[in-house]
Amino acid sequence: EHYLQRIQQSDAMLNSFISVTADHALEQADAADQARAKGNAGFLTGLPLALKDIFCTQNIKTSCGSKMLDNFIAPFDATVVEKLKAAGTVTLGKTNMDEFAMGSSNESSYYGPVKNPWDLTAVPGGSSGGSAAAIAAGLTPAALGTDTGGSIRQPAAFCGITGLKPTYGRVSRYGIIAYASSLDQAGPMARSAEDCAHLLNAMAGHDARDSTSMARGVPDYTDTLSAPLSGLKIGLPQEYFGEGLDPDVEKAVREAVSVYESLGATVREVSLPHTHYAIPAYYVIAPAEASSNLSRFDGVRFGHRCDNPSDLIDLYKRSRAEGFGEEVQRRILIGTHTLSEGFFDAYYTKAQKVRRLIRQDFLDAFEDVDVLMGPASPTPAFDLGANKDPVSMYLQDIYTIAVNLAGIPGISVPAGFVHGRPVGLQILGTHFAEAQLLNVAHQFQ
Ligand code: GLN
Repeated sequence: EHYLQRIQQSDAMLNSFISVTADHALEQADAADQARAKGNAGFLTGLPLALKDIFCTQNIKTSCGSKMLDNFIAPFDATVVEKLKAAGTVTLGKTNMDEFAMGSSNESSYYGPVKNPWDLTAVPGGSSGGSAAAIAAGLTPAALGTDTGGSIRQPAAFCGITGLKPTYGRVSRYGIIAYASSLDQAGPMARSAEDCAHLLNAMAGHDARDSTSMARGVPDYTDTLSAPLSGLKIGLPQEYFGEGLDPDVEKAVREAVSVYESLGATVREVSLPHTHYAIPAYYVIAPAEASSNLSRFDGVRFGHRCDNPSDLIDLYKRSRAEGFGEEVQRRILIGTHTLSEGFFDAYYTKAQKVRRLIRQDFLDAFEDVDVLMGPASPTPAFDLGANKDPVSMYLQDIYTIAVNLAGIPGISVPAGFVHGRPVGLQILGTHFAEAQLLNVAHQFQ
């Protein structure tokens, strides 16, 4: 009731929710009370939670931030939603996001932009900006996001909260509307690493319905939160401290790193030499996969359908032209182009080769150090409307995108304020090092 009231009071200003499911939440809360009374409560029983509107939810609209799915009600729950419900969580509603998770500012949503609760003239980051803003404003204690190229970590940084992108394959993607299937991963967003650890405990694990989810044991991520950090080897990728990084963000990140030195960690510079190619490779691979995934939205099977089509082709064309926003159409065009005969080898195959080199950079670095640290974003949250050019928006993703290409996990933790806006320290680990990342993040907080 407290959180529903907070949402009612403040969300008209922030626009962080697309749907608020008050009745549903109160019913689930009653069930949680009953479970508690019977002694059946688990750690998460009764925990209020917001879900990015990309997770399919039975009987609740799942719009993916798009007019295309404004009328879509999924007949089933995503695996992670199912698992969290089974753990007793209470769904407060579905949070706003960039359309089909394409963006870094939450300005491409069909439902309008989300505002940053720290400064209403700033963006909250994207694409999981609604989840991040709702947590920062105290409208929910925790939320789920997805991260294809930074969409959990960058909004977490911009809103001063903690967000974890797990290793590719750690969390089931079943029932999450696909953007770029080889990069997408769902993760927890909350006020602390400890809260994220509790959520990941419930989210992680193999799912027979997602062939890319890994059959690998799930540790209790809270067990190692307090493990001492003396002897931890931290690498600072030199490419993450170069041109384009706001000097005040750099200062905040270096101060955060020095906290770890005082906890007994050692710090050295490392190199990820192919970093420069991460944005071009990502912006070939992600739109290519998106153009293929989004072909299912044809006006026949799901979502928006145009009025009075004259024939089938007209139905496809107008339904898609009306249903998809500008950025989504741009990505579909790029993806269709790079996948077409005659261009495929020059773009897609090439980008996949670069991807392999980027992954190898990280594996080489993790031979020498335990974790990497750097900024989550080159600047603090920028002003709403300030980044009109798509390419300058894509360049925002410089420190987050390579992580998805490599499939490794990353976490952003709050590291102070610059010009009155939050800044995130990003910590990266090797594949399946979530427990270590949460441990390292927890010690800072
Ligand atoms: N900003 C990136 C993009 O637009 C990443 C988005 C994401 O992680 N979903 O593709």
